[in-house]
Amino acid sequence: MNRQKSFQNEAGPALYLVPTPIGNLKEISPRQREILESVDVIACEDTRNSGPLLHNIDIHKPLIAHHEFNAIQSTKGILQLLEEGKKVAVISDAGYPLISDPGSQLVAETVAAGFPVIPISGSNAALNALVASGLPTSHFLFYGFLDAKSTKRVRELEGLKNFPFTMIFYEAPHRIERMLVDALEVLGDRQMCLARELTKMHEEMLRGTISEVLAACTDLKGEMVVVIEGCPKQTERTLEECVKMAFELVEGGMKPKAAAAKACEESGFSKNEIYQEMMRRKDS
Ligand code: SAM
Repeated sequence: MNRQKSFQNEAGPALYLVPTPIGNLKEISPRQREILESVDVIACEDTRNSGPLLHNIDIHKPLIAHHEFNAIQSTKGILQLLEEGKKVAVISDAGYPLISDPGSQLVAETVAAGFPVIPISGSNAALNALVASGLPTSHFLFYGFLDAKSTKRVRELEGLKNFPFTMIFYEAPHRIERMLVDALEVLGDRQMCLARELTKMHEEMLRGTISEVLAACTDLKGEMVVVIEGCPKQTERTLEECVKMAFELVEGGMKPKAAAAKACEESGFSKNEIYQEMMRRKDS
């Protein structure tokens, strides 16, 4: 068990998880700026991307690289800095670190070593797309990237076919058409939203069925998020429909109890309720 009071020892070492804008630099918040200005070191995915971004927002701090290919080594280095009492911020190229971006192993090891890990709020492409999609938001799944290979992607989609809530995927522009072809084939022609270039000048939402968006998405460029409706609910038969169906089965030669048992499938009623109702109507 690990219990952290984030604001108890603000002078001490800590790992801050700081989101950066997903396109629009105005989305850097006063708190993000304050944290980035206060830390000793900023760990970023690629210093060639984060250097200019930080320069643009007038933050000048030592940068160290923390990406999937040096994660073991750089995690050791970051833990050493924390041991020395330093504060470290982790950022990614855009949006939240750790969301389809590196950092989860670093956070696990920092927690295990007993240092505070403090999340700062900010931009995230998946949530921007979800809230503007027009699809239900009370429950949802963030899946991130599906596999780049169609056979594996189809298998992943098959595993999600019966998932009842809205699903969010990241996708690269050169794969979007093939991904939607697979989604259409496996999931059927559900409602979806393709959110492109969020927060940027060319921000665009394509809302409709998968086949409609597929027809409109040739040559689409830029960064994109795909939000797809969950598995539509099977509509349940009403009592009236169940009883009607049961009587039809009886007319076809089935015994009343067996007909009630058949008619109660995919309904919210029990075999007994349908049978009782059949008997009541027969007697009246
Ligand atoms: N960490 C990021 C976040 O919190 O959203 C996601 C990083 S992931 C490596 C990059 C993917 O996020 C892109 O391929 C795209 O699917 C999505 N993405 C990032 N910025 C976006 C934007 N401005 N508009 C649409 N999608 C975006």
